[in-house]
Amino acid sequence: MSMISECAPAKINLALHVTGRRADGYHLLESLVTFTDTGDQLSFSPASTDGFSVSGRFAGNVPREGNAGGDNLVVKARDMLRSVLAGAGLAAPPVHIHLEKNLPVASGIGGGSADAAATLRGVMRLWEIPAGAVDLPTLALRLGADVPMCLAGTPLIARGIGEAIEPLRGLPSFAMVLANPLQPVSTPDVFQALESKANAPLSLPGELIEAAAWIAAIGNLRNDLEAPASRLVAEIAVISGLLAGQGATLVRMSGSGATCFGIFSDSAQAKAAEAALLSIRPDWYFQATTTISGAQACRA
Ligand code: ATP
Repeated sequence: MSMISECAPAKINLALHVTGRRADGYHLLESLVTFTDTGDQLSFSPASTDGFSVSGRFAGNVPREGNAGGDNLVVKARDMLRSVLAGAGLAAPPVHIHLEKNLPVASGIGGGSADAAATLRGVMRLWEIPAGAVDLPTLALRLGADVPMCLAGTPLIARGIGEAIEPLRGLPSFAMVLANPLQPVSTPDVFQALESKANAPLSLPGELIEAAAWIAAIGNLRNDLEAPASRLVAEIAVISGLLAGQGATLVRMSGSGATCFGIFSDSAQAKAAEAALLSIRPDWYFQATTTISGAQACRA
């Protein structure tokens, strides 16, 4: 068996409405989610013992205690799947996993969740486990509320704490720039700072076809976490202003921040904006990318 590659795309919350709170403290949300065609890259190789290595711009920001991987979600996903397989009498031999960490960490675009989902996909392939042998969505939810949506990896509406997933057909592909001031944001801190925890649910008009109509409809939605996150991290307003200044038609924060996205009319405009923004703030993260429109894998 040779090496297997998987891509872990950034998760973009085009809108995120916080609609309530469960008795156990988890927030209920309704979110319009899509994924980019670029992201972290993972590779899975047969080995004599388990191993984990990390490279890439943000390698220094992920948990990686030596070869063991510590608390990294990649290692947790591998180990959790292996123990489920052991219960079913299925073999899960040692594997070396390499993570190229291209996405900023703790930045609202679900990099850790995407890595965990890519690990589940990758080791299932490496170990040649038949698709129906494991309840992957349930396993994914044990790894984190955003892991099931990353496992689905297609445009969707997420409800509940993020685990109730409804695939969304017809969402077009958007050219966008992701922008992050490289200030990690703690998701619990943002929810703590949220004033209203029972906001209006997501509502989209039917029959949306043209990209412009989608952008207008998304523009009428919100990210309820943007105001509290902006109170905690002043650079979010600055970076949103920079994206708008480059001519983005829609600018919004993703997840609990601090990454913001700007939607541009096409990839050339997004690329030009990325270059201009990098010349203004070379120390920040700007990435031109394209979101997927259907069940299309990102580039591994
Ligand atoms: P979300 O949008 O789902 O809230 P996020 O983009 O804000 O996620 P992540 O980048 O997934 O945040 O990181 C959240 C936490 O997970 C970090 O504190 C980090 O230490 C931990 N973590 C564990 N494994 C990973 C990984 N492979 N990549 C990134 N973070 C990881």
